[in-house]
Formats: sequence, C-alpha cells, structure tokens
Amino acid sequence: MLEEAHSYFQKAADVLNLSDRIREIIWSPLRVVRVELVVDDDEGRLKHYMGYRVQHNKARGPMKGGLRFHPSMDEDHAAALANLMTWKTAIVDVPFGGAKGGINCDPLNMSERELNEVTRRFVEQTKEIIGPTIDIPAPDVNTNAKIMGWIMDEYSKYAGFSPGVVTGKPLHLFGSEGREEATGRGVMVVLDEALKERGKGWQDIRVAIQGFGNVGSNAARLIAEQGARIVAVADHMGGVSNDKGLDIPALIEWVKEHRTVKGFAGGEAFDGPDVIAWDCDVLIPAALEDAITEDNADTVKAGIIVEGANGPTSPAAHDALVQRGVLVIPDILANAGGVTVSYFEWAQNIQQFRWQKARVDEELHQVMRKAYTAVKDVAQEKGIDMRIAAFVLAIRRVAEAARSRRYVKEEIAL
Ligand code: NAD
Repeated sequence: MLEEAHSYFQKAADVLNLSDRIREIIWSPLRVVRVELVVDDDEGRLKHYMGYRVQHNKARGPMKGGLRFHPSMDEDHAAALANLMTWKTAIVDVPFGGAKGGINCDPLNMSERELNEVTRRFVEQTKEIIGPTIDIPAPDVNTNAKIMGWIMDEYSKYAGFSPGVVTGKPLHLFGSEGREEATGRGVMVVLDEALKERGKGWQDIRVAIQGFGNVGSNAARLIAEQGARIVAVADHMGGVSNDKGLDIPALIEWVKEHRTVKGFAGGEAFDGPDVIAWDCDVLIPAALEDAITEDNADTVKAGIIVEGANGPTSPAAHDALVQRGVLVIPDILANAGGVTVSYFEWAQNIQQFRWQKARVDEELHQVMRKAYTAVKDVAQEKGIDMRIAAFVLAIRRVAEAARSRRYVKEEIAL
C-alpha cells in the first residue's frame, strides 16, 4: 500500500519539479511506534496484540488520523495511511499534519470488555506521543464513537480533562454534531460537484456501493435523500441489489441488527465482489484497500468513482480507468469530510463551545466544495488527472509550510 502511495507522490513531485532531497524530507515519517498489548480474554487466556502509530508529518499542525482495529493492521498499513492523512489534511486545508494507527485485533470476535481493555492498554502505551497539540486519533475501520470515548477517558487519567485528544467522540462526551456522518456527507458533496460539471442531476444516476459501515451507509443515505437510486450494496458477507433503488433507511436498520446487508429482504442477493462491475453510473468503494485492481478494472461500468475508502484503487487500475475516461475522485479528496469535521470537533473542544448541526454541515459543504474546485483547477492547469492533481496541491502546501518553518532550508520553486 505504501508503494502505491509512493508512486502517486513521485508523479506529483515530478509535476512540481521537487528535488530528491525535498522529496525525501517530506516523504519519510517522523515517528513509527509499535507497542505490545497483552490482555486477558473472557476465558482468562492471555492475548497478545500489536498496536501501531505512525506520525508522518507535522509541518501544518498537530498530527491527525484514525485508528483501525483489524487483523490485517500492521506497520506498513499504518505508514501508508498516515502518509495519506498528511495530504488529505492539506487538501481540505485544516491545520493538521498526518498520522494513523491501529491494533491487529478483530473486534467482530471480541467482547466489549476485551475491546475496552485493549483500547485502554494502547492509550497507556502511547500517552506520551498523543495529545491535543501533538497527535489526535479518530475512528476508522471497526472503531467508533464509543471507543473514542474510552480513549478520551483513559488519556484524561494521565493528562487531566482532555476532550481534544481524540475526535469522533459520542455527542454526550464532547463529540461534534455531524461527525458520525461527515465522511459520507463529504462523499455526497464532491459527487454533487462532479454531477454538476457533467450536467447530470441526482435523479439521473444509479449508484453502487461497496462497504456499508460508517462511510458507506451514511453516503448511501445522504445520496438517496438527494433523489439518486442506490441499486447495489455489498459488504464483507455479501451483497443486495434492487433496480428500483434500495430502501436505505430500512437497510441501515437491518444492518444494525444483523451486522451485514446479507439477508435483507428488500432486494436480491448477489456475491459481494460483483459490486465492482455493477451496471451503474457511480461506484463508491467504501470498504478496504485494493477493491479495484488490474484484475477487475476492465469490468467497471461506472463513469464516476468516488473513493470513500482509503486506497481502494491500485495504481495500474487507476491508470486504466482514467484512460477510459472514468472520473476517479481520489480518496484524499473524496473522504476528507471526516477529518474536516474532526477539526471542527477539536476546535469546539479547545474553545469549550458547541456548534449547531446546521453550522457544521454548512461549513463542511463549503470546505469540500472549495477543495474539489482547487483540485479541479490544478488538474486543468497542469493537464493531469484528479488524483495526481490532489497530490500536487497537497505536496505544494506541505512543502510551503515546511519551508516557512525552516524544516526545509533550501528554496523550493512551487
Ligand atoms: P467500518 O468498519 O464502519 O465499515 C467497513 C465496511 O466495509 C463494513 O460494511 C464491512 O462489512 C465492509 N467490508 C470489510 N471488508 C470487506 C470486503 N472484503 N468486501 C466488501 N466489504 C467489506 O469502516 P469505515 O469507517 O466506514 O471505513 C471504510 C473506509 O473508509 C476505510 O478505508 C477507511 O479508512 C475509510 N475512511 C473512513 C473514515 C471515517 O470517518 N470513518 C474517514 C475517511 C476514510
């Protein structure tokens, strides 16, 4: 995954004519931390997990990024995702750098007590390197508001009352209105921009979504509310389709109870991976990385791909899609709504002040539209695709900040 991010980084750095020296300085992470977490499971057996936190860059502010609890979590994943966070925060121009981390555990097969213990152990082991002005975690795959609340509680035991140490907290525990749905909302806003550009209305489009967790389900709900038809949804267990449009609120209720879309009666079942080749106008990968690769890129029928997930498209697949004229709205732009509202949450925590939901949504819409336009402008100016344009914009902003802080001493022509 890191290699893939590096190939985009290099292409964008070539567009900017960055020297090798500066590439090296802004590419490599500042700090990589690995901790061992040993806890008792419910039967009293010792369980060993590894926790990771990679802090990539702090030129533009305290580092920021999610925590992923997944068996596949490792240092390489954390490093690649931390790297993407640096570019993402720069694209939406929030005053943060990039970080990411997680634990290689499987929350789907753990009790709440075990999960709570592993989370607290992770905070205990990383408390010196996180904090409201250092590094601020947030939810990612298999982590949620409840877990963020535990992190705040555990960290506050050491540092005193610190709601700003983590974002994506429950509303009653210093969370922000609109945070839970923010990534999905951002996906909807950038899609709205793309549709306008192409002279299409919401009523004209059929949408297929892979992943129906935080990002996928909120994007589905908000897009359906605009009047589009969500014709297929898949998750790790399987898929469900309905040509007339799935009843998304009913599907969300089903998933709350069954933890999968599989078995939902309001549509027909299909094999999950088939969602990538679905006959639709817009495809939203919102699960894990490498959903669209060389092997299945040719089968994609959608004309627009909005990357809700991080790294869902391999570089070879991306190039093949772009060559075919598919508009790919890249992850570092498309899913930046979450970190944007995380910034609003952090700012509210620091000011000890609360915003109404209407204000959060309005400001999020403005930030996402501005970021979309900025990326589009670079793409047009340089004659490059949206992904490389997003990297160009981000690298330019990070390099400028690094130069102004004198992390980079030589002149950079940007
Ligand atoms: P989540 O845990 O809430 O949901 C993940 C979804 O993906 C679930 O529906 C799961 O069943 C599905 N899934 C897992 N493996 C799959 C597979 N092999 N095939 C099909 N579906 C599969 O996670 P999330 O927070 O919605 O994150 C999804 C993606 O979005 C990740 O790449 C994450 O990094 C990215 N992201 C999340 C946020 C956020 O605010 N939560 C912000 C930016 C980016």
